[in-house]
Amino acid sequence: MRIDQESIEHDNIAGLSRRDFVKFCSTLAVGMGLPVGMGAQIAEAVTVQKRPPVLWLSAQECTGCTETLLRTSHPTLEKLILELISLEYHETLLVGAGRQAEDWREKSMKENKGKYILVVDGSIPTKDNGIYCKIGGKTALALLGEMAADAAAVIAIGSCASWGGVPSADPNPTGATPAHEVLKSRGIKTPVVNIPGCPPNPYNFLSTVLYFVTFKKLPELDDQSRPKFAYGRLIHENCERRPHFDAGRFAIQFGDEGHRKGYCLYKLGCKGPETFANCPIQLFNDVGSGAWPVGTGHPCFGCSEKGVGFTLPLHSPARPKYVTPPSIFPGIEAHKSGGASIAAAAVVAGLAGAALGAGAVTVKKLGEKEEGRKGTEE
Ligand code: SF4
Repeated sequence: MRIDQESIEHDNIAGLSRRDFVKFCSTLAVGMGLPVGMGAQIAEAVTVQKRPPVLWLSAQECTGCTETLLRTSHPTLEKLILELISLEYHETLLVGAGRQAEDWREKSMKENKGKYILVVDGSIPTKDNGIYCKIGGKTALALLGEMAADAAAVIAIGSCASWGGVPSADPNPTGATPAHEVLKSRGIKTPVVNIPGCPPNPYNFLSTVLYFVTFKKLPELDDQSRPKFAYGRLIHENCERRPHFDAGRFAIQFGDEGHRKGYCLYKLGCKGPETFANCPIQLFNDVGSGAWPVGTGHPCFGCSEKGVGFTLPLHSPARPKYVTPPSIFPGIEAHKSGGASIAAAAVVAGLAGAALGAGAVTVKKLGEKEEGRKGTEE
């Protein structure tokens, strides 16, 4: 019943040649903000050492986090995950079931005490002693305490495990609680890393595991225990629609001209300006550029950000963290009335302003002049 693979041959790792595997690890290293040369070190660590044992606990969840790992189309990513770690226990992927599965979990925990990584998927119901989620006759609440106490580290995967997610939405009937809060309340000090998202990007999970295996510690975390390499920047900072935001070009309704032209989705409620994640860079499912919600025309709803996704109304405006709200930005695509277009005037004025070293002032004045102008750029 154990998900067991043949030992990894160094010249064929999860279907990749060693050279390609090192390249792959180098890409992950760069994504984590490490020097590119670290790729070889990561490749060495994960192929020479015994594969790290991983136990996966599923609580109140939808299996989306598992699906995102298995549905990736990047060459053999799911194989990389399954062959680079020793997945000892995972309810969805186990061959065995019932008592057999639980016996194996207990055996594996005993044999790998203090060495295994515990992945928690889903929030933990705490109301009424956790009776709203039971596995093999035990509550998820009891299992989390039992399994986390002997783990080397806990990875809370997805928004539900990281901060409550969907099950914790008001009125939170089951008392859904994130893994780190449950552990803290029970005095369990095993380090926890949160990888939020609904679903999270599988590369962020894989990078975290490889980092831990290679360097024997967790990557640098932010104040919400998220890896900085993945959650250090706002979505808004790397969004391909950002030039439209800066220029004041917005979609106002789904299907309008601005939406069809790929304008910024801020006015449709995009939460990119207050959500930290690397979605615009890592993309999803390797189906080419634009393979993420904003890329396909849907506003980011902040699924990875505590207090934003599943909390704020879908179309409420974001509260930008670092940028000036666009309502005071001048538009650059003006209605044409009579002679020269305002857009052309803006270019001329901009050039003149630059020549005088006063471009910013000129643009500001243009903005004031255009106040009240109607159109997709508002
Ligand atoms: Fe992209 Fe949303 Fe920011 Fe517009 S508001 S630039 S769509 S992240």
